[in-house]
Amino acid sequence: MIPPPLARFTAAATPASFSNNRRSSLSALWLGAVAIAACPSLQAAPVVTQGHGGPDAAFSLAPVPPPAINDAAAKATFSLVDGSRDGSSGELAVLADGKLPASEDSPAANFFFADNTDGGRIGVDLGSIISVKSIGSYSWHGGGRGPQVYTLFAADGKAEHFNAAPKRGTDPASCGWQRVAAVDTRPHDGKAGGQYAVEISNKDGAPLGEFRHLLFDVAKAAAADPFGNTFFSEIDVIDAKGPAVERLKPALPLVTNHVSADGKASYSIDSSKAPDLTEWSEKELLPVIVDWYPKLVALLPSEGFHAATVLKFEFRTDMGGVPAYTAGNKISLNAPWIAGQLKGEAKGCVIHEMVHVVQGYGRGPRGAKPAFAPGWVTEGLADYVRWYLYEPQSKGTVIRDPKQAKYDASYRVTANFFDWVVTTQDKDLLRKLNTAGREARYSEDLWKTWTGKTLAQLGEEWKKAIADGRR
Ligand SMILES: [Zn+2]
Repeated sequence: MIPPPLARFTAAATPASFSNNRRSSLSALWLGAVAIAACPSLQAAPVVTQGHGGPDAAFSLAPVPPPAINDAAAKATFSLVDGSRDGSSGELAVLADGKLPASEDSPAANFFFADNTDGGRIGVDLGSIISVKSIGSYSWHGGGRGPQVYTLFAADGKAEHFNAAPKRGTDPASCGWQRVAAVDTRPHDGKAGGQYAVEISNKDGAPLGEFRHLLFDVAKAAAADPFGNTFFSEIDVIDAKGPAVERLKPALPLVTNHVSADGKASYSIDSSKAPDLTEWSEKELLPVIVDWYPKLVALLPSEGFHAATVLKFEFRTDMGGVPAYTAGNKISLNAPWIAGQLKGEAKGCVIHEMVHVVQGYGRGPRGAKPAFAPGWVTEGLADYVRWYLYEPQSKGTVIRDPKQAKYDASYRVTANFFDWVVTTQDKDLLRKLNTAGREARYSEDLWKTWTGKTLAQLGEEWKKAIADGRR
């Protein structure tokens, strides 16, 4: 049994080493990094760098890089030198498959020693002696099985008395192994859950040594817990003379929350039911939301009304043929429909729905006898903003058959009618119409008040303008 070296090194090395690591480069929340001088017996003392993050960190645990895909461990032979694999654990092969668990409790995607045992030893045969630049280990669990506690040994296998598989009770240093580093990522505050990444390397970038064999002497992370063995997700061995290292691209979080630059609004997007749309949401949709929501609020003001400051977008797969709808500040988006419209109507559709959030019809101050705007007004206004203000370059509101045109046909047709009223009769129509809808005091008489013409007269004049080719 190897004496636990960490208490000693951590206490002695922390203050000085903290200034040496790259803490300032940390970007994700609640990451911690500690670099400790691990083995004073080696000439160039390797450092252990660690990263720790929450369940959404996507193994982007700076300063430790994400797991490698094409590292030397991918071709190595892993063996259980001592201890036993838990019945629910994955095979040792999961440690080198370049894949990460999908959740914080994915036993089969990790390797862990059997419950009610105190770890064991894992051997790695790289097949030939290579110049090892660094060694990485990654783990993830929501509780006490997240942190890593192990001592790493390495050997070239050339020693006469070399024992490739020393059981516990045999000090590897006595049979041809060098002790490289001791790792202990258990947090001091006891909150052990989350993702952990460890990198063992030399500070100056020089290789750790010429090795063929590695031996991980793994201790239980949660000593008092019968289920305290670490969920190891991946082990990487980087060959100093190997090909350029390819690393896993961190997955984007499926639920994001963006606070506007002025801090006045926040936008959350939930793509957990449509992970394929996560990247598009983040790169394409979010900028449109951030740019346009404040514009829409400014476009449709009314006294005493405050538009929602929290917007929630959710991609859903249970909406049938409905592309999108809005309830209060929540916008539901039909994932399959949006996916088919990424280069088409997807963004315009979201603009339309955000107009509904801003409209807030029936939410403004209202009188004793509320008179709600008819649906064609509500939808026509949302489509007017979308087609004429957000994407004026589109031909989305061309009326194909003037004889059939009806001002109250809703959506695009009504949008065309509103545009005609705005450009020929009353520039301020949009704001007035919206305020009437919001304050639930809509009446057809308002059109006469605003333009001097009845709604029917306006409708006829508009149709004539279409027929004359003026629209
Ligand atoms: Zn609508």
